[in-house]
Amino acid sequence: MIKKVNVGEICLGMYIHELRGNWLEHPFWRKSFKLDDPKDLQKLIHSGVDEIWIDTNKGLDVTAVMVTEPAKESEFEPAKHEPEPTKTPLAVKKQISFDEELVAAKKIHTKAKKVVTSMFGDVRMGKALDVQGAVVLVEDIQSSIERNPSALLSLARLKNANEYTYLHSVAVCMLMIALAKQLKLSESQARQAGVAGLLHDIGKMAIPNQVLDKPGKLTDEEFNVIKQHPQRGWEILKASYQVDDVALDVCLHHHERVDGRGYPEKISGADLSLFARMGAVCDVYDAISSDRCYKKAWGPAESISKMTAWREGHFDEVIFHAFVKTIGIYPSGTLLKLKSGRLGVVLEQSKKSLVTPIIKVFFSIRANMYIPVEIVDLSKGSDSVDSIEDPFKWKLDVDRLQGIVE
Ligand code: C2E
Ligand code: FE
Repeated sequence: MIKKVNVGEICLGMYIHELRGNWLEHPFWRKSFKLDDPKDLQKLIHSGVDEIWIDTNKGLDVTAVMVTEPAKESEFEPAKHEPEPTKTPLAVKKQISFDEELVAAKKIHTKAKKVVTSMFGDVRMGKALDVQGAVVLVEDIQSSIERNPSALLSLARLKNANEYTYLHSVAVCMLMIALAKQLKLSESQARQAGVAGLLHDIGKMAIPNQVLDKPGKLTDEEFNVIKQHPQRGWEILKASYQVDDVALDVCLHHHERVDGRGYPEKISGADLSLFARMGAVCDVYDAISSDRCYKKAWGPAESISKMTAWREGHFDEVIFHAFVKTIGIYPSGTLLKLKSGRLGVVLEQSKKSLVTPIIKVFFSIRANMYIPVEIVDLSKGSDSVDSIEDPFKWKLDVDRLQGIVE
């Protein structure tokens, strides 16, 4: 059946029968085609197309069914290089507020830390990897992100240098799921991405602690040892017989770069899978925005702006763009000065624009005093961003102000 759908309803696996709109003079689009490349999906979403007609006999239909069934055995069969087309389009699920989700998100974050610390600890001691707990955990994370992505993503920032390797894995898992959602991958693909994120650095458990936790710059020799972690991780995962090819691929290739200057295999561009390219972006963002044993964290907004400067050659453009859309230019936890002379911390992104997040305002610079807390949605236009501020300069604990720690 040929039917018209909204741009928000399209997903991988649909057969595009016809597109209508001014921009269609662009030679990029064929008249009819199967939508199976995530890059095409992103281009289509951002193209400003007026009308999309799909053929449900040749591809997927729009469905309002909630996808709640657990992972099927077949999802753990070897995956192809690129993800399978979406079997069931993502349904619109109930969104709740940041504060409402925070309670559940805190429990999930605590559980995640326990599961990963024990799983990675077992591997460090030479025990076999058991990923069963991890798969259940990823489903909890996925549900929380569906309800409100900002709550869990805010908690992902909370880590000290000692617990970095474990909580970095948890954070990359969360970022991968949120990015998969932004890229409109299916629910099972998002779950695969999450498991892959959780396990991507498992190979660091095969690296001696004195190198991994060295409180300073590594020598070339030490860095060569660290550079073995993708291959060592791949071997650990392969030996477990419990993970799919997506996790194996992300583990081996998360340090590759699109210009072929990464490691271990120096693979470039389109030869890198979508999931590996996603892993590279999520990994670097969380690494540079976290306190490390060898250097202090950059703030969330500063991290995004650094990555924007380095992105060429390192990251896939389309994926990086989708990543910025996922977490924002002013990600949750960023301290902002507003044109009104007030300070506020970003809680979450607004639907309208990347430059108008929802913030918790608490301080007046003019009066030099705390003011009653107010939640301001900058997309409503009552105020706007003047500058990004350094919490250290203002002696402020943004985590406490944001309400993510007691
Ligand atoms: P990691 O800390 O999880 O960092 C992951 C990746 O984030 C890095 O991969 C790099 O691409 C990016 N990254 C992290 N910090 C910076 C930074 O300050 N600037 C830039 N441009 N990129 C950054 P990479 O470089 O292959 O490092 C792999 C792992 O090696 C790191 O994982 C970390 O565990 C270790 N490592 C790297 N440099 C040092 C160091 O100077 N001291 C110590 N102790 N470990 C290091
Ligand atoms: Fe790594």
